[in-house]
Amino acid sequence: MSSDDGPRMFQDQLAEKVRPFIDLVDDMRSIGIDKELPLPAIAVVGDQSSGKSSVLEFLSGVALPRGTGIVTRCPLLLKLCNDRTVKWEAVISYGEKYRHEFEEPSEVVRHVEQAQNSLAGKGVGICDDLITLKITSSTVCDLSLIDLPGIARVAVKGQPDDIGVQIKNLIMKFIKNKITIILAVVPCNVDIATTEALKMAQEVDPEGTRTMAILTKPDLIDPGAEKNVLEIVHNKVIVLNMGYVIVKCRGQKKIDENMSITRAIEEELEFFENHEHFRSLLREEKATTKCLATKLSNALVKHIKKSLPQMSETIKERLGEVKHLLSQIEGGPPMEPEEKRKYLIQVITDFNDQITQLSKGDIIVEENLFVLMRKEFTEWMECLKNSKSHYHEVVQQVVDEYDEKHRGSELPGFSNYRVFQNVVQKLVAELKRPAMTTLQTIRDMVQKQFDHLSKESFKNYPYLHQVSMKRIETIQEKQSNIVKERIVEQFEMEMQVYTQDEIFNKHSRKEGTEDGSDHDTRSKYPGLLKAYYEIVVQRLADQVPMLIRYFILKQSAKIVCSEMLDLLHRDDTDNILQEDSEIGEYRAKLHAQVDRLIQANDKISSLRECDVLSVTKFRDVAKNRNMLI
Ligand code: GDP
Ligand code: MG
Repeated sequence: MSSDDGPRMFQDQLAEKVRPFIDLVDDMRSIGIDKELPLPAIAVVGDQSSGKSSVLEFLSGVALPRGTGIVTRCPLLLKLCNDRTVKWEAVISYGEKYRHEFEEPSEVVRHVEQAQNSLAGKGVGICDDLITLKITSSTVCDLSLIDLPGIARVAVKGQPDDIGVQIKNLIMKFIKNKITIILAVVPCNVDIATTEALKMAQEVDPEGTRTMAILTKPDLIDPGAEKNVLEIVHNKVIVLNMGYVIVKCRGQKKIDENMSITRAIEEELEFFENHEHFRSLLREEKATTKCLATKLSNALVKHIKKSLPQMSETIKERLGEVKHLLSQIEGGPPMEPEEKRKYLIQVITDFNDQITQLSKGDIIVEENLFVLMRKEFTEWMECLKNSKSHYHEVVQQVVDEYDEKHRGSELPGFSNYRVFQNVVQKLVAELKRPAMTTLQTIRDMVQKQFDHLSKESFKNYPYLHQVSMKRIETIQEKQSNIVKERIVEQFEMEMQVYTQDEIFNKHSRKEGTEDGSDHDTRSKYPGLLKAYYEIVVQRLADQVPMLIRYFILKQSAKIVCSEMLDLLHRDDTDNILQEDSEIGEYRAKLHAQVDRLIQANDKISSLRECDVLSVTKFRDVAKNRNMLI
């Protein structure tokens, strides 16, 4: 075994423990589960020029876009995968389906810039959409981090005034998740406590339980200030449970001179080894990017493991919710033409059943139609009753004033029947208007309830809904015209002033005998006319509601049903059953969500099983070894 194999083997062991967990989260993110629940992640935050890109370059081993101003304009998920068998390869992906593989590290900058331009537009705007850059190589350690735009203090030329707020909101969106590890990048050569990055971290993580800080630029510390920095690294100033790591990256000069990252990493180690104050930090594992990488990797895995049970719970809950939503809009039309026809027949039959039941008063739509109609008909009856007193007055008046106002050629004591007939005709004709109003009111009620049923029955089928609404309208219009005609007819008949009512005849005979002397026939008129009006009122009180009920409800329900059945004779079932595109899309979206959640759930359960297995396997190996010894 060569001496080189030692660390390699260690790395493999580490990878075996680390990779599955990081992969799980990355896989879950790639199936879009982060839309349903937050995923464990490391978010890198820092003020502009704090050295974020430099640290990420050291971790990833490749040059990233740099420059002044906002260089990172979209969140960038940097997935680092260690694979001994791979020299170097990368995949960049973003948006719905853009994906590009490449094998040349120097192309990273171009691809990231291109992705940013495509998502956030050329220029200086920022955008919330994630770019994923997966780098697989033998030299990186297993780690996934999200690089965020640097915190800008003031807008520069061409930037929107509120760029600072926009960036802060974007950062907040990521770090406010309790499940996110905040990696705050802070230069040593500034007043650390006042950096925006740490302030924002403290806002969302006041206890400092999920914040780790990276101190950069230790080579730029003012001589004499090293002690203060040590105090910070030793967690004595701002307490962070995950602690501090100090790193040294390439200064601008070294970048300009094109010093390689590999060389710079070597130089970093030399820097600390030779540093009078910071040398001790190497032993304490609080210095160098290499140490940072291992720490982060372990922290991330620990974090993921801790989050698994909760994630699993949330996924199950979400799954239940989404399945419930789906069940409410499930039952779209089948694909197969024959089945689709059957389905259409069913949909229309169901609707017809409802309309029929409504017309019989067997179902209630919002409000009981028959109760509503009865109220309206009672009002009609009231109107008839109320007209009586007016009628009586007029009749009495005509009798009283007959000789002065109404007498024609007849001798005194004789009366002209026509005068009284005219009075009856005129007063009965006045009832036509309220009869028509009653018709209109009931028609509106019935149509409203028919429309409601159509809306309910065909809520997923806009075509059927529209067609039925139109037909209901036309049918109601036709039927109410019929009723109007019948009412007009009825009133025309009433102009005949006719009855063979028994009661009336009795009444007239009674009036005749009682007043046997017959000296004043006219005094009998009010009583007789009153009795006649009672008969008219009774006739109209029944006739008008019966007409309305029959034509507007009973018969129109029948016609609606038969016209809806006519649709079955057409051969464009697809067209008739065309679904509301929104419903279709929504259902597809929910189905995709269910798939995602089930996949995620499977992944978690299989990983948890494996984890248990690997622990058992490890114990078995250890046992065997003991036995051998
Ligand atoms: P970012 O804006 O946070 O991404 O910061 P950069 O990584 O672009 O770094 C800003 C400037 O600081 C660059 O000129 C880097 O060369 C320089 N820089 C970063 N880290 C160090 C360091 O440890 N020492 C020195 N001297 N300069 C550094
Ligand atoms: Mg940067």
